[in-house]
Amino acid sequence: MKSPATQLRAQIDGTVHTDTQTTETYSHDASIYEISPEMVIKPAHTKDIKKIVRFVRDNKAHYPTLAITPRSAGTDMSGAAIGSSIVLDMTAHFSTLHSATTKSLHVQPGVFMRNIDPILTEKGVMLGCVPASRALCTIGGMVGNNSGGEQSLRYGNTENFVRELEVVLADGNAYTIKPLDRRALHIKMEQGDFEGELYRKLYHLIEDNYDLVRNARPHVNKNSMGYNLWSVWDRDTGVFDLTRLFTGSQGTLGVITDIKLNVVKKAKHSGLLVLYLPNIKQLGEIIKLVMEHHPATFEGFDDITFNLGIRHFSLFKAALGAKEWAKQQASLLSSVAKFKGHVPNMVLMVEFEGDTLDEVHAKINELSNKLNGFKLKKEVAGDESASSKFWQIRRASLALLRQRIKDKYASPFIDDLTVQPQYLPEFLPRLRKIIRKYKLPATIAGHFGDGNFHIIPLMDISSPEDQAKLEPTMREIVPLVLEYKGTLAGEHNDGMVRGPWLPAVFGEEMYGIFKQTKVIFDPQNIFNPYKKTDATWEYSMDHIRSNHDRNLYKVKLLK
Ligand SMILES: Cc1cc2nc3c(=O)[nH]c(=O)nc-3n(C[C@H](O)[C@H](O)[C@H](O)COP(=O)(O)OP(=O)(O)OC[C@H]3O[C@@H](n4cnc5c(N)ncnc54)[C@H](O)[C@@H]3O)c2cc1C
Repeated sequence: MKSPATQLRAQIDGTVHTDTQTTETYSHDASIYEISPEMVIKPAHTKDIKKIVRFVRDNKAHYPTLAITPRSAGTDMSGAAIGSSIVLDMTAHFSTLHSATTKSLHVQPGVFMRNIDPILTEKGVMLGCVPASRALCTIGGMVGNNSGGEQSLRYGNTENFVRELEVVLADGNAYTIKPLDRRALHIKMEQGDFEGELYRKLYHLIEDNYDLVRNARPHVNKNSMGYNLWSVWDRDTGVFDLTRLFTGSQGTLGVITDIKLNVVKKAKHSGLLVLYLPNIKQLGEIIKLVMEHHPATFEGFDDITFNLGIRHFSLFKAALGAKEWAKQQASLLSSVAKFKGHVPNMVLMVEFEGDTLDEVHAKINELSNKLNGFKLKKEVAGDESASSKFWQIRRASLALLRQRIKDKYASPFIDDLTVQPQYLPEFLPRLRKIIRKYKLPATIAGHFGDGNFHIIPLMDISSPEDQAKLEPTMREIVPLVLEYKGTLAGEHNDGMVRGPWLPAVFGEEMYGIFKQTKVIFDPQNIFNPYKKTDATWEYSMDHIRSNHDRNLYKVKLLK
């Protein structure tokens, strides 16, 4: 009998790759894991994807491990863009920009964000959910993960931007999904086909467990853990929106082949009010006051990041250019002179936007005056150029840490913790204690307005000693996060790293509902196994990576 790769090659217009160089390349994403796929397929069009899904469905009994992992740019930090069977590379041929207007964006999933950014900017609009990996990632990956970024403080994660998707489901057909009113939902549920059955089963699953599902939503501004079931069916509005379920489903329910998104207006000018806090005791009150002023973004970093930023500012020379770099460095040193050797405990960056610089400055001054009663130093970076040095340090926290610890590598596993910001003064010291206890060298930097932190320790993750730290650390972090009703992932999703902790975070009953959702859409488990609800700690630990990508995180240094 011919191998699956040979059979598929004969059926599709796209290409099927089984050579070691290709499978090795696709065996990594930006996570701590590695899995070598049997083959990488670059589908030419949706018809190919339908054929691949049908092939897997029909041959699953004979080849039980046959499965499909959709993959876009592969910058996933949770291990969800790798798989042992077929990796479906969506960047090769699904890269058409259908349209971009001042209201909406219509693309194929493999379109890179870096190619869309300038087009939207020219039209004076943007996607308000773009991640820091904007130079590397695709729109399909952003939908797959329900990604978020600096602007998510105001606009939320990608789920808030998705209007309509085309998806290939487990029966090998392509379907359009979009919000439905009650009438449209009932028409769908009356269909006697696979699609009708999906709508019926999912509607009843949510309706029968309505309060449990609605209350399961983590009490945070942004979340990408679990399946977004709490946003699918709303009894009050009568809207049933499957796009909410697919956004953040990490390729575990089907393959996304077409995406329509809303866009929002982009402000013409921005400026920062920078706050240097000598201690974080007053953080809660400051966050509350800042948020009352509705900043565009509200970011921050700790004293370790700040010290490293000052010491290694030369790192930004390439991104800024020699002249601009010299200017920025001089400006940073003059800021630092104010501290007379006492570096602040925390640096907060509050960004305001406006159509004129006067509007921006008025907003900055208003907040600055209100903060006069607090014990802190303030600095105004009144335009994009003056703000740049702070953004460089904020985005480069990981790369800066690596300057200090050269033989270790970024190991994301507690990389996306999120709690309501008012809890931070209590939460952060307790978190730092755990990080210190397990000797995990890490900086704390993140989206303070959202209470969302990127802590990516530098470790030798291939060593048994460092691997042994993962489970006990998680066992201490999970209850801490739950004590503050938070989530383990504000934007980076579950994959292999957080999937095994879904029952601990959501409880067995809600986890059971997540699992039923997976079974409704993917009864044979052909889409992205061992991720999200199908993840197990044993499988994940068996696939810890043995080699490290030194370059991936350098993107943080981009302008
Ligand atoms: C340096 C760095 C910084 C980062 N910063 C952020 C950040 O600020 N915010 C943030 O949210 N994330 C961040 N990330 C994580 C990651 O970049 C984002 O989640 C990104 O949106 C993933 O896009 P991608 O194209 O690389 O997707 P991939 O990694 O290829 O895939 C992501 C997930 O989506 C699924 N998927 C991809 N395409 C499809 C499809 N067509 N159909 C169905 N499922 C699909 C995959 O199976 C996978 O589960 C960062 C990563 C790095 C390396």
